[in-house]
Amino acid sequence: MKVERRRLSERRRLAGWLGGALAAVGLFGLWIVYGPIDESLLDPNQHHSQTIIDRNGEILYEPLAQSGNRSQWIEAKHLPEMIARATIAAEDHDFYKHRGISGRAIARAIVRNVRAMRVVEGGSTITQQVAKLLLKSDKRTLWTKLREAKLALRLESHYSKREILALYLNLAPYGNRINGVARASHTYFGVVPESLTPAQAAFLASLPQRPSAFNPLKDSERARARQRYVLRAMDLPKDVYERAEKEELRFSDDAQPVVAMHFVERVLALQPKEQIVRTSLDAKLQRQVAGIISAQKNDLLRHGAHSVAVAVLDNASGEWLAWEGSGNYFGGDFGGAIDGVIAARQPGSTLKPFTYALAFESGRSPATVLMDEPSSFPTSQEGVVYTPRNYDGRYRGPIRVRSALAGSQNVPAVAMLDQLGPESLLRFLRNAGFKTLDKTADYYGLGLTLGDAEVTLEQLITAYSAFAREGRVIPTSLLHRQAPTANRRLFSQRTAFWITDILSDADAREYAFGSGGNLDFPFPVAVKTGTSQAYRDNWTIGYTKDVTVGVWVGNFDRTPLRGSSGVTGAAPIFNAVMLAAVKHARGALPIGDMTPVVAPPANVQRVEICTLSGLRPSTYCPAIQQEWLPTEQPARFCDLRHQPDVAPSVQMARKEEFHIASPPDGATYLIDPTLRREFQALKLKASPSNNVQWQVNAQKIDGNEWPLSPGQHTITAVDASGKRDSVRILVK
Ligand SMILES: [Zn+2]
Repeated sequence: MKVERRRLSERRRLAGWLGGALAAVGLFGLWIVYGPIDESLLDPNQHHSQTIIDRNGEILYEPLAQSGNRSQWIEAKHLPEMIARATIAAEDHDFYKHRGISGRAIARAIVRNVRAMRVVEGGSTITQQVAKLLLKSDKRTLWTKLREAKLALRLESHYSKREILALYLNLAPYGNRINGVARASHTYFGVVPESLTPAQAAFLASLPQRPSAFNPLKDSERARARQRYVLRAMDLPKDVYERAEKEELRFSDDAQPVVAMHFVERVLALQPKEQIVRTSLDAKLQRQVAGIISAQKNDLLRHGAHSVAVAVLDNASGEWLAWEGSGNYFGGDFGGAIDGVIAARQPGSTLKPFTYALAFESGRSPATVLMDEPSSFPTSQEGVVYTPRNYDGRYRGPIRVRSALAGSQNVPAVAMLDQLGPESLLRFLRNAGFKTLDKTADYYGLGLTLGDAEVTLEQLITAYSAFAREGRVIPTSLLHRQAPTANRRLFSQRTAFWITDILSDADAREYAFGSGGNLDFPFPVAVKTGTSQAYRDNWTIGYTKDVTVGVWVGNFDRTPLRGSSGVTGAAPIFNAVMLAAVKHARGALPIGDMTPVVAPPANVQRVEICTLSGLRPSTYCPAIQQEWLPTEQPARFCDLRHQPDVAPSVQMARKEEFHIASPPDGATYLIDPTLRREFQALKLKASPSNNVQWQVNAQKIDGNEWPLSPGQHTITAVDASGKRDSVRILVK
């Protein structure tokens, strides 16, 4: 009996415990599902990034909720029907059936992921995604998953399905830093969400799942494939579906809600902490730059160029005043969302000033004479020589640095670098901020001075501004800074003066570029153009005391330009942007003010030189010019004979065997990456040179020029009497 009773009471106690525990679990369950929601999570202001303003306070980019005139926060009672339908089709087929968490969705996701051997589906309901967006948890731990699940269950108990869907549409990311479907439909299609067609809605609904992977502006094919999938899942009436399938999506050209989209992207990437971020940009100048680019659009298209990057730097502060990455952010077919200011490309001749700056730092001057003649330079590869050619295929003999740089001749620049060594130029360029030059000096070789290594427009502008700053570099900034920043000397004031004086010398470049074109201004501007391998990139970079302006024209997929050179592609845009930027800096154009960009320092003096020798003229020198020479060097006088007839040794006619004088037997030629193919011709010379018929690989050719093509070649010369000579060459 006693034992029995004890058992009974034990059982009762156990039941009591169990009941209590069950009640607790039940209450906990109820609390989980019906417990309170932190209302501040739902405050629209919580869910958008900062307001980005220009240097004068003009808004460049603002959180949606704060823009009073467009109340773009979608409400449950005005759900745009088509996007709601497309979103459910894309994200959560059972949205109206589950209670926040869907076992079926999770099971389906697991099956699909196992089949695909990777995560293709998250198994999250729209409600769970809302919870995730509200909590903004970026760590994917079990704990955050549980918190999100709890919030999802509570959302379902507190709000209607339509309210939850509205929250989702307001918060979801649609790529390109666009949150909320209202801004997305405005940005991509220039319409309010209510006006989206089924095809547009399906497209937008497919974006949030992987906003970067489906970025329509960067990879339109994948985005379209996903759109078609969503369209099928929308269960539209047959005729509506068929029409939607055929609809061609046209992205909005002029509905850009943001001034300087690429720039804003860069600023947001800095993850600034302030609610209001004051940037360096000048919105007025930026809009002018955009206007200049669109005014040139047709001309650029004629040259096969679809993208333009332009940036303007304030030299004194190092702040970016204008920044346009492609000329058309929403030009999806041509990679408009790519930021051309920071894209690495071949700079062509725009690196030449740094070769000569380095030369000036090591004892040369603008009067130093270099040889512009057919020459071959050894490379790091044994038996391979580098044979640079000039733009026009001509050689000009002895040439002073001033003419060589101003006229952008290739051969003297390579001859100069051969004296200095590619290592020292590479070190100099890296020190100037060209961080993309990460290969060895052997890898780049002497072609480094002709721009065969890739750099960015941002780096070029930053480095050029050191010339305007008399040799000093300062860190550049996307933000408006109060205090001036520390600077560091890259080269001497004299080097900065010489380079600037040459680049702003319209007379010195006239023999190569003509005059009165886009490189000439009614006040001093230092300017350099560049064109890369096979005309893929076209550049113009220049500066005044106040600003440095850089322009790149090309295609992100590297399609070559047509008939465009440094003077016709980027230069007209450069010209207009430079005028606008100087006007902004000065208030008015300083027309006729010939104050040099960089003042001559005390250690140069303006003296007369012989144009041929670069030395002080003697009485026989036929042409005399003014030049700035170093004060510390003793005056050397020209000792050339300056006779009209050439050196007598050449005139001494020699009886000789018929032979090929050029190319030499066994020579190796490198195809020059910076020249157009038609300029890559090899001049063939035989001696004596009358009535020579040339053959290449036993094929007769016309004349005495042969366009280089890669491979081993046998070149044969036959004279009138049938005498012949052959050489073998290799072209790489
Ligand atoms: Zn002379």
